Parts: sequence; C-alpha cells; structure tokens
Amino acid sequence: MTIRHRVPRPELAPVSVRHELSDLVALLTDRSWVALTGAGMSTDSGIPDYRGPSAPPSTPMMYDEFVGHEENRRRYWARSMLGWQSFGRAVPNAGHRALVGAPGLLGVVTQNVDGLHEEAGSSPVVDLHGRIDRVVCLQCRTYSSRADLQIRLQSLNPDVDGYLPAGAAELDAARLRPDGDAVVEHWHDLVVPACEVCGGILKPDVVFFGESARREVVTAAYELVDAAEVVVVLGSSLTVMSGLRFVRHAARHDKPVAIINRGPTRADALATVRIDGGTTETLEALVARTPA
Ligand SMILES: [Zn+2]
Repeated sequence: MTIRHRVPRPELAPVSVRHELSDLVALLTDRSWVALTGAGMSTDSGIPDYRGPSAPPSTPMMYDEFVGHEENRRRYWARSMLGWQSFGRAVPNAGHRALVGAPGLLGVVTQNVDGLHEEAGSSPVVDLHGRIDRVVCLQCRTYSSRADLQIRLQSLNPDVDGYLPAGAAELDAARLRPDGDAVVEHWHDLVVPACEVCGGILKPDVVFFGESARREVVTAAYELVDAAEVVVVLGSSLTVMSGLRFVRHAARHDKPVAIINRGPTRADALATVRIDGGTTETLEALVARTPA
C-alpha cells in the first residue's frame, strides 16, 4: 500500500447525515471499539491539520526525492531542524487524555506521527505512519532518537538562525506541520549528520508519501480492528488509503463505523454514526456520558 498525495485534495460532498452525541454513546455502550485517529486529533495541541479546510497548500517531500538526492535531504533536515523546536513543545490535549482508559476502547491506531497518544498514556497505540521522534538508518536499520539528532544538527550547523527566512525569527504554530516540517529558505549549506553506526543515510522514522507503511505495523492495526466491535474515526478526512482501508475493511465485515471529524470524509457513506465536530469536545462529552 502506497500513500500518494501529490494530487489536489478530492472534492468531498457535504456531510448529509448528522448524528448526536447520544447516538455515539448508544453505539459504544457495552461494545468494544478501536480508535482510528488523524491530524484533527492533534490540532488542539497546536499541530495544524495540513489537509484540513484551512490548511495552506503544501508539497510534501516524496520518499524517492528524499532517498535519491542529497540536496533534498539537506532541504528536508534544514526544515526539520527548525520545525523540531516548535514540535517538541506540543503536549497531549484533553481529547488524547479522554481516550486513555475510555470504557470499551481496545487500542488506538493513529495516522499521526507526534506520539501524543503514547505521551497521554494510551496503550496499545499502533503508529501507522511511524514516529517523528525517531530516526532510522536506511543502511543498517538502526533506530535512534530524533532529539539526539537535533543536538548533532545544531552542533554541525551553529548558525541556525541564518537559515530562517527574513522576518521569521519566531516559528509560530502556523508554520508547523504534522510531520515536524517548517518553512525555510536557505538550506544549501546545511551539514547533514550520517548514521553513527555505519555512516549510512538517516531518515526520520515516518512514512513518506510514496512509501509503504511497515507490514508488521499494518498487521497490528488490522488485528485491533478485527478484535473490536466498532471502529471510531477521530479527526481524519481519510484522504489517504492507508487509513481508509481499515474503515472499508470494517464495513465489509458489517462492523459499525462512527466518524467524528470537522468537515466531510471519504468514508461518510459507510458511517453508522457521523458527527461533524471536533475530537476534543466530542471525546470529553463521550467519556462523561458513557457508563463506566
Ligand atoms: Zn547505519
């Protein structure tokens, strides 16, 4: 399965069916469920949804571009080095916290790479698209810490402020993207650290566009979906197949699907319960009203 998103976002029909919180409570009472979360889950943590209705246009780097050209990696890491400074400050919001220990919840499958579900205390969490706080060597597959790489990046490139575009001394949340990327103009001189074990190319441990999610991760996600009686989509418009396939899989097995998202999604026609709203307020209200 490959993620492709170089095309314009698909035109989505308006949400035609609306349900109330009480419908969601009724669906989940005395049933096991799995949460499938997307960028909308983390917007209240200050990480904007770059596919959401108000997101600025962006062109994510493709896997082949990153692997194939050193210049692209230099550009990527220059942006990442700056974005990390803001990204590292994001903390779980009330929605993440409400999911922890929610009655009937078997686990979380997330398309987010921010690690905020784990930080809030959810378990198990399947990170479909990897984790931005990890780095992997493409040669020896050794995993290492993104925070440690930041220290190496900064010591190799001490004049980091020189990479900031004019007038951007402060990186605000609007410049931050879910993959920890940030806008930067002058990146040609960046010194990119190599793997400390073998000297190979380091890549953030996130699934790039044009790259497949790891097989064992996808398997773990299907196992959670199969074990649950209900699938609840939280804060995703399901524009990429990597998330949508789990909803289609559930629907094929006559498993009810609830979708909580601001704006239309690609799976609205498959939803048993469809709430057009934010994840934080919906989850807080859900947990408050669900019998323990
Ligand atoms: Zn290596």
